Amino acid sequence: MALLEILQFPDPRLRNKATPVTEVNDTVRQHVDNMLETMYKAQGVGLASTQVDIDQRIVVIDVSEEGDDPLVFINPKITPLEGPTSEMAEGCLSVPGFYEPLGRPENVRVTALDRDGEEFSMDCDGLLSVCIQHECDHLDGKLFIDTLSSLKRTRIRKKLEKNRRLATA
Ligand SMILES: [Zn+2]
Repeated sequence: MALLEILQFPDPRLRNKATPVTEVNDTVRQHVDNMLETMYKAQGVGLASTQVDIDQRIVVIDVSEEGDDPLVFINPKITPLEGPTSEMAEGCLSVPGFYEPLGRPENVRVTALDRDGEEFSMDCDGLLSVCIQHECDHLDGKLFIDTLSSLKRTRIRKKLEKNRRLATA
């Protein structure tokens, strides 16, 4: 396994739209394993392939307390289910240190392939629901800060650039 570099906003590669996986083979499983290792190391609850510059539609998530329940979604598709809208503060490994609440459907159904290439579907609520929606946005090149005002986004960009300069100084 290998740790992957997590792209940070405003890296233009975060805007790529990832390509569907045509066959779940060992290469794809290798990506999955590397993504899980990278997510755990960064103490995140989810990671999308776009964030590590892999052009395949892959999402990994672990919202368990112990961090021992990895979920793998290949070519995930989300259908909102009936129910209220939830507003949970979201963070992102590509926008470290910033948290913003976003309105999203509380309940969604996700259909995807697992690491053996088998299709499954899962009804999600709570943190898992927010997380899968957030990660699927990444696969389409979207970020959770896109709904903020451009002034606020500029502030976030400047702060991140400053942090990176300090980190490399
Ligand atoms: Zn994110």
